[in-house]
Amino acid sequence: MSEFDGLPPLRDVVKKHELAAKKSLGQNFLFDLNLTGRIARAAGPLAGVTIIEIGPGPGGLTRALLTEGAERVIAVERDERCLAALAEIAAAYPGRLDVVPGDALTVDLAELAEGAKGPVRICANLPYNIGTALLVGWLETEPWPPWFDRMVLMFQREVAERIVATPAQRADYGRLGVLTGWRATARILFDVPPSAFTPPPKVTSSVVEIVPRREPLPCDARILTAVTAAAFNQRRKMLRQSLKGFSIAGTSLEALALLQRAGIEETRRAEEIDVAGFVALARAAGEMSRSGLGE
Ligand code: SAM
Repeated sequence: MSEFDGLPPLRDVVKKHELAAKKSLGQNFLFDLNLTGRIARAAGPLAGVTIIEIGPGPGGLTRALLTEGAERVIAVERDERCLAALAEIAAAYPGRLDVVPGDALTVDLAELAEGAKGPVRICANLPYNIGTALLVGWLETEPWPPWFDRMVLMFQREVAERIVATPAQRADYGRLGVLTGWRATARILFDVPPSAFTPPPKVTSSVVEIVPRREPLPCDARILTAVTAAAFNQRRKMLRQSLKGFSIAGTSLEALALLQRAGIEETRRAEEIDVAGFVALARAAGEMSRSGLGE
């Protein structure tokens, strides 16, 4: 029995339920309940809080979230092999753990969180192969502010660095940093070495805290994403070049006019433009396409 919650050690759970890790599902499990406790506390205090957890696997983080006092954990898991192990945890915490079998990329998480009495938070050791896609979806949530008040997520260190990057970290700064910086504040809380996982991944991981801004600078998320993608597609080129042929909803916009309207020098490069600059570009692009100022 574990000293934390009276449930069997995770290694025994994995053995009993034959949960050999599958690479295709990004399965790198955490067995150390001290570490999962640390991640859960980073999402806390948890009294009265509903947690949406993605990929509970054998339940290491799930158990920590429950012992740390989460009112309710709603855990979405794609691997049906894990469901019996998770049912044992649910039985030990009556009424506090709901396991939802399914793909987190398609399950409507906002709907799952509906009816929660207190704050809702997302906390997960994410499957590395869909971590970025999930985060982008959460950051593009409409309406904003979203249904969650914080995210505490584990990524590969290299992805974590891109999430928190600003123009000061040129090599890492890109679409992910702009989208995150626009709608949230983000920081890396701590690193987790490969040896903490079973099986160990090749790279170091990091736990990141992302807190939605209540009032991000107003702009259209889709246009911001589109203009950022175009600008960083050729990140070393001047914007007058990388934004050539940029179009919205079939309207092609003239790069120089767009940059002028946004108040950005045509010789600047994407990696020099901060979030406010990209928002100005997105707003200028939206205005131009609405008023038929295409090429
Ligand atoms: N939370 C567990 C832990 O910390 O030990 C497992 C983390 S493991 C990195 C990622 C988990 O996400 C696995 O349990 C995997 O089966 C699950 N997973 C992978 N793809 C998923 C998807 N599309 N939707 C929901 N869960 C998924």
